[in-house]
Amino acid sequence: EGVKGALVVLGGGESGVGTAILGKKQGFEVFVSDKGTIKESYRDVLIDLEIEWEDGQHSEEKILNADLVMKSPGIPDKVPMVRQLVEKGIPVISEIEFASKYTNATIVGITGSNGKTTTTMLAHHLLQKGGLHVGMAGNIGDSYAKMVAENDFDTYVLEISSFQLDGIVSFKPHIAVITNITPDHLDRYDHKFENYVASKFRIAMNQTESDYLIYDADDQVITDWLKAHPVRSRLIPFSIKKKITPGAFLEDKNITITIDNDQTTMSTETLALEGKHNVKNAMAASMAATLLKVRKETIRESLQDFQGAPHRLEKVLKINNVQYINDSKATNVNATYYALESMNVQTVWIVGGEDKGNDYADLMPLVREKVKAIICLGLDNSKIIDTFGRVVDLMVETYSMEEAVKVAYKIAERGETVLLSPACASFDLFDNYEDRGNQFKAAVRKL
Ligand code: ADP
Repeated sequence: EGVKGALVVLGGGESGVGTAILGKKQGFEVFVSDKGTIKESYRDVLIDLEIEWEDGQHSEEKILNADLVMKSPGIPDKVPMVRQLVEKGIPVISEIEFASKYTNATIVGITGSNGKTTTTMLAHHLLQKGGLHVGMAGNIGDSYAKMVAENDFDTYVLEISSFQLDGIVSFKPHIAVITNITPDHLDRYDHKFENYVASKFRIAMNQTESDYLIYDADDQVITDWLKAHPVRSRLIPFSIKKKITPGAFLEDKNITITIDNDQTTMSTETLALEGKHNVKNAMAASMAATLLKVRKETIRESLQDFQGAPHRLEKVLKINNVQYINDSKATNVNATYYALESMNVQTVWIVGGEDKGNDYADLMPLVREKVKAIICLGLDNSKIIDTFGRVVDLMVETYSMEEAVKVAYKIAERGETVLLSPACASFDLFDNYEDRGNQFKAAVRKL
């Protein structure tokens, strides 16, 4: 096959290198350009495959001669290079768009503000146990493009961010999931929430009557949007507040799923993951699996033996009958809301970090009821102290994870829980949320 054209890949990270691999395989002349530094392991891949690349700069002339550009999700639309490309009429797409052209696999695409990773892993687990030849990619693990280049899965479960959705043209999942929508990343959306919501709903924009949209019917942002902007997809809602069919609902401690007049019931008490939010994630994943014909028995069993993702309400250790829980991935208030909600005992709460314009008001009733002490761990804790100082008797500021955990150890009594659920980004004191969670686990193990 001859050369298909010049493919420029902006950004040499996981999705950029994945796109380069697939592009090369498909016969494009590929050029990878990264204004920062490309990691050595990625550079080695590019060199091995004889793919041209540069870092520390963008060679304008070369880039502006592209036939097609894949922009990595981390690069905002506003940067001058991207603006110039758009002005010249050169298509700028995301990795998800590019990769989907080269596979006929059935796609389950999962987006939302919180719960994407958990729901993606859960759905993948259910489908795999159901015997499907299924890959998991997107925002999680290997890039989708790389997977498409190197595997031949029949089905993919993709975790998809709003940035990936901004760069789609014809991408369409057979089954789309929107877990929930709460404000996040507004800096990339002109500080307009509706732009961010619109971006999430792009997941359904190319769907037709034979496709499905699974969504949280308790989320008013989602339901209001659907009223104003109808989609063609078949709607499959889930709720923990009201009975709905078709769809999934919670009654007492049972989940009932109805799809195509077929009904299944299962108990939430046997679910591997705790918390109301995980009931929702389980509903979403189970409905995706049901639509792909996985047997009820297999779904039930798989929800029980699922191993949760690290840093998401991850149980670390019990010391002196105190449970230590790592929820470092809670980088916004909504995620922490569900963490606190799922606490059944008095909790010593480690919170703080880089504030993303947090509004803590929603947490107040939970904090009053469940939190006996707050341990602040951020460079600037003033907002947390101002908000909760009046409702929690004990507040301590700490300056390292080790110190925070030691203080928590002193305060927590038998039967109680120590919860790291920061509600903030990690970049003030840590490399990223994984680093923060790993430091927590290490400090707990040293106690
Ligand atoms: P994402 O990939 O969207 O960031 P994760 O599954 O990694 O989502 O979870 C991120 C955080 O949000 C974790 O702290 C987790 O406990 C919490 N969380 C998980 N599912 C939900 C949900 N459905 N609603 C609200 N919070 C959730």
